[in-house]
Amino acid sequence: MKSPFHIMIIPTLGCPSKCHYCWSSDEGSPKMSIETVRAVTDWLKDYRSDQVTITFHGGEPLLAGANFYRQALPILSEGLAHLAPTFALQSNLWRLTPEMARIFAEYHIPIGSSIDGPEEINDLQRGKGYFEKTMRGYEIATENGLEVRFICTFTCRSVEHKEEIFNFFLQSGFPLKLHPALPSLRSEDPKEWALEPEAYGELLVYLLDKYLENLGKVEIMNINDLCKCIFTRHGTVCTFVDCMGNTLAIGPDGSIYPCYRFVGMPEYIMGNVYDRPTAEDLARSDAWKLMHAFKDYVDRECGECPHIKYCRGGCPYNAIAPTNGEIRGVDPHCIAYKRIFDEITDRLNNEMYGSPDMEMGGFGSRSRRKAKPGIMSILQAMATK
Ligand code: SF4
Ligand code: SF4
Repeated sequence: MKSPFHIMIIPTLGCPSKCHYCWSSDEGSPKMSIETVRAVTDWLKDYRSDQVTITFHGGEPLLAGANFYRQALPILSEGLAHLAPTFALQSNLWRLTPEMARIFAEYHIPIGSSIDGPEEINDLQRGKGYFEKTMRGYEIATENGLEVRFICTFTCRSVEHKEEIFNFFLQSGFPLKLHPALPSLRSEDPKEWALEPEAYGELLVYLLDKYLENLGKVEIMNINDLCKCIFTRHGTVCTFVDCMGNTLAIGPDGSIYPCYRFVGMPEYIMGNVYDRPTAEDLARSDAWKLMHAFKDYVDRECGECPHIKYCRGGCPYNAIAPTNGEIRGVDPHCIAYKRIFDEITDRLNNEMYGSPDMEMGGFGSRSRRKAKPGIMSILQAMATK
């Protein structure tokens, strides 16, 4: 199955927020010019012929300003009309203005934003005032008909408050998508905020239980994706497919990288849009070869794992960036992936082939307890959406 084609445009690496576990640069960091957007369009025109999703990511992409999007969106959508482009945006929403929101609404752009739970917990790890500024942007977005979904980053500190965080999402009616904080590559204490793989695995199992307890009242997107992986035997998010070659990111100066996570790391530049490279040209770069070497490594190292088809060794960035481009293992979150994939598989097998959920009352009496919702209920809920 061919993975969808995804281009990430990084208009700047700058960000006005200073989240403790993040690596973005100063607000004044260079911004992409409209000339570069034209070069992106000219390059993509002939690069591939399948449908493309274009996500504006950062840094903080809204720092590019309303004028950038007013020009960039028509250039991309008209120039690439034959690829039926759809757009998305990942932003903390601080700089969203009604004017920008109207431009995004015109192009039906869904927004992914970030909130790590209730204000106190969020601001502890993302900085004072973050929650309020994001919520102000959220109001502007929804007033203009934009759809916003939040990603919640769990750190080794916030995981202690997982119940409060889950209840926050439940009560606010926001779907929950979570992300584990990674060890920072630019900090003196890389693990200060990182969520250890074992703790991440336990968190996923905890959220699976909470999801089942509250089915229909909250949506946990990661659990949906994990269940879908097992049911379809194919990954449905980039972490669980061979992303190499199907996802590409373009930095502010037009440099092409394997993914937004590598942007700003010169050793991962594969080419530049101004040179209009073909896939064969990019394949000659060291970064492309490294990404494909990781794929071959996964085929060997994970060959015996029952989850290889829909895990594919996890995220190559997680595996190779911390070791300076040396492949010494798969994604360190393997422990978490195995834990949750095993749990879902066992429960699903039990539901499909195990004994019915029946309780014996006293001797001779048989009272049937109402079956608790299980993995099949999650799959059914997804199917009826
Ligand atoms: S490197 Fe990781 S985050 Fe980037 S596209 Fe691949 S799996 Fe996704
Ligand atoms: S769970 Fe671990 S061993 Fe299995 S495929 Fe994923 S990364 Fe490889």
